[in-house]
Amino acid sequence: MRVTFASEAAPGHSNEDFIASTPDALVLLDGAGTPVDSESGCVHGVAWYARSLGSTLLAGMTQGTGTLTEILAEGIKAVASLHDFICDLDHPGSPSATVIMLRRTAGVLDFLVLADSVLVLDVIGEAEPMVVCDKRETKVGTPYRAAMDALDTGSSAHATAHRRYVETLRDHRNRDGGFWIAAVDPLTAEQALTGTVRADQVRAVALFSDGASRLVDRFHLATWRQALGILDESGPDELIRQVREAEHADPAGSRWPRGKTHDDATAAYCLLSGEDFSVRRSEPGAE
Ligand SMILES: [Zn+2]
Repeated sequence: MRVTFASEAAPGHSNEDFIASTPDALVLLDGAGTPVDSESGCVHGVAWYARSLGSTLLAGMTQGTGTLTEILAEGIKAVASLHDFICDLDHPGSPSATVIMLRRTAGVLDFLVLADSVLVLDVIGEAEPMVVCDKRETKVGTPYRAAMDALDTGSSAHATAHRRYVETLRDHRNRDGGFWIAAVDPLTAEQALTGTVRADQVRAVALFSDGASRLVDRFHLATWRQALGILDESGPDELIRQVREAEHADPAGSRWPRGKTHDDATAAYCLLSGEDFSVRRSEPGAE
């Protein structure tokens, strides 16, 4: 695969998204933010969690042969063991992250999607791309959004409403009837959406954290097909630039109500069709 990606923190914040890749494996995580003044029980923080789990998953995908679900379960367990002796992992606000995993082995592509990051497959011969996203958090959250969405984003009243919204959603996290996200319990991995497609049937794959997918699924300024076009022609940087441009045009969220004016934004594009784009390996002294 030829992989390009970009990741940009919300201005003034540290990036809680994580993206990493080899020529055959890719992970994207979006750490679920702990709002200011909110407790989490963890001294490390959300960015640490996303980086630790992401790098563990990439290692698991490149070293092991297990299913992506198994690798995710093992990864959640391994990261919990890195801080369970110092942090309160029973806290309902302990750090969590969405997960996308993509792996190419022996002519097939395996994918896994947990929570609201978006995977888009450009399947050869299909007019519309295939979009894989777990909408359970959106569904659970919708009835609680009204109070927050009625206020100007960036105001202190909105910040308070956003904190309340996040804390309310915690009661629905990782339980039946709620939504599922990587945090402490390895069994969460079994809730992920997974699939396998033949690699030669796919032209390209795109991955987005919700801070980047909002160009399509919140702002409706592009279709998924058009987003693939932007990635193909101009790259992930340009897609994120268009997200920021829209956000700056609506700083108070009056046109597009949202939890944060800006969010960490990550987009990746993997091109598969045609030749083998794998990195060519050179050996010292082999010339
Ligand atoms: Zn911790």
